[in-house]
Amino acid sequence: MTSTKSRPTNLNPLITDLAGLDLITDANQIAKLSQDYYTFSPVLQPLLADKTGDLVVRPVNEAEVLKVAAACVKFKVPLTVRGAGTGNYGQCVPLEGGVILDMTRMNAIHWVKPGLACVEPGLKMAAMDKQTRETGWEVRMAPSTYRTATIGGFIGGGSGGIGSVTYGQLRDRGNLQAVRVVTMEDQPRVIELRGDDVYKVAHAYGTNGIITELEIPLAPVYPWAEVIVTFSDFMTAARFGLALSNSDGLIKKLVCGCAAPIPTYFAALRSYIPDGAHCVLLMIAESSLEPLGELIKEFGGTIGYQKTAQEASKGITLAEYSWNHTTLHARSVDSSLTYLQTLLPDDNLALLEHLYHHFKDEVMLHLEFLRVAGSARPAALQVVRYTTEERLNQIIAYHESKGAFIFNPHTYILEDGGMKAIDIEQLKFKEMVDPYGLLNPGKMRAWLERSRL
Ligand SMILES: Cc1cc2nc3c(=O)[nH]c(=O)nc-3n(C[C@H](O)[C@H](O)[C@H](O)COP(=O)(O)OP(=O)(O)OC[C@H]3O[C@@H](n4cnc5c(N)ncnc54)[C@H](O)[C@@H]3O)c2cc1C
Repeated sequence: MTSTKSRPTNLNPLITDLAGLDLITDANQIAKLSQDYYTFSPVLQPLLADKTGDLVVRPVNEAEVLKVAAACVKFKVPLTVRGAGTGNYGQCVPLEGGVILDMTRMNAIHWVKPGLACVEPGLKMAAMDKQTRETGWEVRMAPSTYRTATIGGFIGGGSGGIGSVTYGQLRDRGNLQAVRVVTMEDQPRVIELRGDDVYKVAHAYGTNGIITELEIPLAPVYPWAEVIVTFSDFMTAARFGLALSNSDGLIKKLVCGCAAPIPTYFAALRSYIPDGAHCVLLMIAESSLEPLGELIKEFGGTIGYQKTAQEASKGITLAEYSWNHTTLHARSVDSSLTYLQTLLPDDNLALLEHLYHHFKDEVMLHLEFLRVAGSARPAALQVVRYTTEERLNQIIAYHESKGAFIFNPHTYILEDGGMKAIDIEQLKFKEMVDPYGLLNPGKMRAWLERSRL
C-alpha cells in the first residue's frame, strides 16, 4: 500500500520555530537515520530503500517534544519517531519525509522501586538492565538487539524476546504499567495512560502519540548460566524445549531451538555443535542447572557447552544467537535468506513436525518458546530460502491453512504484520491525538481505510 500524499517542500519556517533544539540537516546523516532492518525482507527492500526524512530532531526532554509536535502540526509536516532504528519491518522508515524525531537523548531513569522502573523512551535496554540489576531487579524481557534497542522502540514496535518464556509477550497485561504520550493536536499536550489504555500506543509504530516516559515492570535478578544442548533428532530437541519451558520449577530466560543446518551459520558456536546436529540454546538460573541435567538426560541430549553467568558475561552470549539474531547470523553467511514469524496453534507439536517434514530445509525451523496464557508454546522465526515473492506467499498461505498464525515481517503495515484485525480503540485514539494523520503516515491500515469502516 502506498500513500498518495506528497512530501513537505519548504521546511525553513519549521526549522526557524525549532531554533535552539538539536537538529540534523546533513542529508547523509538524515538518510542513515531514516533506515532500519527492513532489509531482512526482499519484499520490503525495493519499497523502502529510497525513503528518507527531511530533518532529524533530537529532543532532550518532554518540553522539547511538545515544541516539535506543535511545529509539525502548525506546518502540517509528518513526524516519524525513532529509537535505535533496529525494527525489522520498516516501522520507523518515513514514507512521506518530514521530521525524524530521534529519541535517544531522552535516556534517563527517573526511579526504580521493587518490581517497577520509570524511564525515558530513548534509554537503551542494556543500560536500563545494568542499572536496575544493581537494585536486584532486571528487565523482564528484551529483544536480542537489547544492546542498541531503546525501551521506547521496544514498546512502540517490538513484541517479546529473551524472558518471554517466563513472562509472555509485551501485549500481555502487566508487562507495561503506564506511558506518557505527547499528542499532535492543534495544541499538543501530554496524556498519561495506565491499565489497558496503554495498548492504545503500545505496538502502534509511533502512529498514536510520542511516548515520553514509561513505567516498566521488572523481574527478580538471577545469575543466568548459558547452555547449549545438542540432539541428533530435531523433534526430540523441540519436545525437550517444550518440556523445559513448561517445567515451572526450573527458572529460565531463554529456550531457543534451531534445526540443522541453522547452527552452521553460528561461526563462533560451531565447535560446540556437531555437524548435522540440532541445538537448543538456553539461559537458565545457575541454581536450576542440576535439575536441568536430569531433563537433558531424560531426552538424550548432549551438553555442547555450559557457562556460568560470570563466564557468559564475557565474550559471546547465546542471547545474541536467539530471536532475530538467528536470522542475522544466517543472513550474514547467505544474504539471500529471509525469515518468517509464526505462532503455532497448540503445544502438542504435531503441526510443527508436519511443517518440518513438509518444507525440509527450504523453511529451516528456529523455535522460540513463549509463555502464552499460562503455558508454553513454540513460536517459530523460520529461516527461509527465498526464491520469489510468489513462493514466499505460498509458504505463508500453507502455514495459515494448517492453523499456524503468521506475523508477516514482509509488510510495513501495522495490522498486516500483527493480528491482521483493525483495532477500533486504537483508531479512535488516533483520531483524537493525531487528527491530521501526521504521525508515521502510511503505516496504519485503520487510518488509511477509515472512511470505509
Ligand atoms: C537482529 C534483530 C533482532 C531482533 N530481535 C527482536 C526480538 O527479540 N524481539 C522483538 O520484539 N523485536 C526484535 N527485533 C526488532 C527490534 O530490534 C526491536 O523491536 C527493538 O526493540 C526496537 O527498538 P528500537 O529502539 O530500535 O526501535 P525503532 O526501530 O527505532 O522503532 C520501532 C518502532 O517504535 C516506534 N517508536 C520508537 N520510539 C518511540 C516513542 N518514543 N514513542 C512512540 N513510538 C516510538 C518507531 O516509530 C517504530 O515504529 C529485532 C531486530 C533485529 C534487526
